[in-house]
Order: sequence, then C-alpha cells, then structure tokens
Amino acid sequence: MKAEIITIGDEILIGQIVDTNAVFMAEVLTRAGIAVHWKSTIPDESKAIISALDTGLERSDLLIFSGGLGPTRDDKTKQTLTEYFEDELVLNQEVLEHIEHLFRKYITTPISEMNRSQAQLPSKAEVLFNVNGTAPGMWFQNGKKAVVSLPGVPYEMKHLMREKVIPRVQQRFELPAIEHRTLITYGMGESAIAERIQDFELGLPDDIKLAYLPSLGRVRLRLSATGNDKQTLIDYVEGYVKTLRSLVADIYYGEEQEGGIEAGIAHQFKGKEQTLAVAESFTGGQIARQLVALPGASAYFRGGIVAYATEIKETVLEVPKDLVNTHSVVSEAVAIAMVQNVRRQMSSDFAIATTGNAGPDKGDSKEEVGKVFIAIATPNKVFAQSFQMGANRERITQKSVNKALEMIYQ
Ligand code: ATP
Ligand code: MG
Repeated sequence: MKAEIITIGDEILIGQIVDTNAVFMAEVLTRAGIAVHWKSTIPDESKAIISALDTGLERSDLLIFSGGLGPTRDDKTKQTLTEYFEDELVLNQEVLEHIEHLFRKYITTPISEMNRSQAQLPSKAEVLFNVNGTAPGMWFQNGKKAVVSLPGVPYEMKHLMREKVIPRVQQRFELPAIEHRTLITYGMGESAIAERIQDFELGLPDDIKLAYLPSLGRVRLRLSATGNDKQTLIDYVEGYVKTLRSLVADIYYGEEQEGGIEAGIAHQFKGKEQTLAVAESFTGGQIARQLVALPGASAYFRGGIVAYATEIKETVLEVPKDLVNTHSVVSEAVAIAMVQNVRRQMSSDFAIATTGNAGPDKGDSKEEVGKVFIAIATPNKVFAQSFQMGANRERITQKSVNKALEMIYQ
C-alpha cells in the first residue's frame, strides 16, 4: 500500500509559505503504518492537477491532495476532480446549512453565491464533513485506489486527516503493523555515535531499520519495523531497543514519547502533581511556547516572564542591581537569581531561567556571543550551567530551548 501526497498552491511554489501540510500528512500517515513514497507540489491549475492524477494513480494506491478548495476562482481542485471522475456537482444540504451557520456565527459579511457554491459537491465522492471550515474534504474511490482532497488551511486539513482520512484508510486498506521506537541521545555527534554502534547497525536484520535524526544538541535513534502481528512486532523490536540503549547508556537521555520531550515533561509533572514556571531572557518566551503546545499544560505550567531588558530583570524579576553590576547580566549569579525569584513569584515547585547572548552584538552583556546560562530550580536544589551555543542567533536560541527542556526533564 503506497501513499502519495500532493500539495496544491502557487504560494508554495514561489516560496511564500512553507509546505507544512505535507510534513504533517507524511507524519500521520507514517505513524499509522502507511508508506508515503512520493510527495510533490503543483500549481493551482487544472492541467497540473490532471497530470498529477494520471501519474499518481499509476504509481500509488492512495493520493492525498491538499489545497485549492476555496470558493475563489483560483481554486481549481474540486472542478477538476469532478470532471476527471466524470461526475457532476450536486447540492449537499448538510454542508450548505453548515456554511450558513458559520456565516451567521463568525462572519460579518453576507453570504455570497460563491460561498454557497462550496456546498456543490461531486455526487460520487464521499463528503468528509469539515466542522472547522466551509470547504469539506472529498474521498473518491477509484476501484481499489482512493483519491482524497482536503482543504489547504492547516488546522482544517489536520482535523480531517486525523478524524476522517486515517480511520478510513485503516478500515479500507490492508495495512501492516508498524512499530517505531526512538531513543534520544545528547552530547555526542551523529558520526561519533554511528562509529560507536557500527557493529550493532551492521548486525541488524533486514526488517529493522535504524535512522539517525540529529537536531540541535541531540541525536534521536529510531528503530522501525513492520510485520503482521502487532504484539509479536513489539516484542521483536524491544530486544533491539535494549541492546541499543545499553550501547549509548552514557549519553542516553530518554525515549521519545509521542509528542516528544514536551510530552515527557507533561507526564513527569502531572505524575508528581508539581508545577513549573519560567523566566526567559534571550529565549523570548520560546520555552513557555513549547510547554503550552500540548493540551493539558494547565495542570502543571504556572506561567512565564520574558525579562529581555536588563531593567526588567531588575524590576519585574527582582534581580539585585549590584549582582548585575558585579557579575554580568549573562552570568551564573543572575541566572540563579532569576530562577529563584520566578519560582517564588509564581509559587511553583520547579522553575527554568535563561540568560545569554544570542548575538549578533554583545548588547548589555560583557559576554561573548553564544554564551548562555540556564538555571533550574527544583524543590531541593538550584543550579545553573553555562554553555557556548555557537554564533548563529537562531541556533543559539533553539539549542538553548532544547537544552533547558532537557535539563528539567528527568
Ligand atoms: P480556502 O477556502 O481558504 O481558500 P483552500 O482549500 O483553497 O482554502 P488554499 O487556498 O490552498 O486552501 O490555502 C489556504 C491557506 O492555507 C493558504 O493561504 C496557506 O496559508 C495555507 N496553506 C495552504 N496549503 C498549505 C500547505 N501545503 N502548507 C501550509 N499551509 C498551507
Ligand atoms: Mg484558497
């Protein structure tokens, strides 16, 4: 069973937007055990859509399109699919009522014929009702193959993908069981790890794949296998996971849960019924942003202060002025004062603080670019670590956010 993703949109081709839809679709399909073997982006043109259908149906069992379903004339997908499958558009009453409802509730302009036309849908397609928007998805069954068209708006597409597409694919296609396990390592580069686990990797059987997924400061090692029976597969992969874990024991950080480290942190805090607060300087709220990205963060995340200017560290976070003068605003002493104060101010059990110089100039700090301090407060200890995170502003920030999350995750 082979799936193919086709995103439609001139904006993607000219580099105006990043094709995050394709990334999301590939990820959920892969997680569900559906092999994605082709991805492409095409312009909002009938000719391009037809050619993608012709070639796609030859090489793939499932084609998923995103985009081009809006009511404007530049969106050609629905019309083209209808003609391609020799179908005709008919009014779908339920969709029409939904569009009218959305307009009454959220949209101030009166509903136009163009908006109503979104309820005109190909008669042979199964309608994938879109609670979040006006354009529903469509599922065309073409013998054993399927062609699915989804709206381009990311949150609409994501919802339909999770709720409507994946369950249908799982029901209608025979899918193998799939098992992924991801071990996270830190502090060692990809090639050094590869060298260390060379024998293990060479000894892996053909049906187990090892992938190196390096990100700033970490390397994730993913073992994947497919088979017929899920439980047998789980036990089979577990054996290799154990061996791999022992080989990287000294640099082993933990196993990735679904949702990554943030999910692990959520799990850790919820289990202990403890809370967390953050005081961020150069990371500008990005740690807080990562923490709240997962639902349920309200159970443990108290909040954060972005104290970017030195003055705000002194006034809002109550870092003593002479501490800043004697040490530097980028110093262990200031990081520790920030973390202690935010923990007290927010009455949390744990806290994270960052201060550093992300460049390009030195700014208020006396420290070189890339020098950062990350402080952690737990119920029984407070400590800070210093790092040299390189010279590129974006990388310094991202690496520091990762590091801070790593340090709080135990
Ligand atoms: P609409 O009803 O809003 O016109 P649509 O189905 O026609 O929806 P598009 O017009 O292609 O979808 O895209 C709507 C918006 O969704 C785009 O402006 C863009 O911001 C976002 N979008 C579309 N495709 C992608 C994509 N592949 N990746 C990320 N964002 C996308
Ligand atoms: Mg559009």
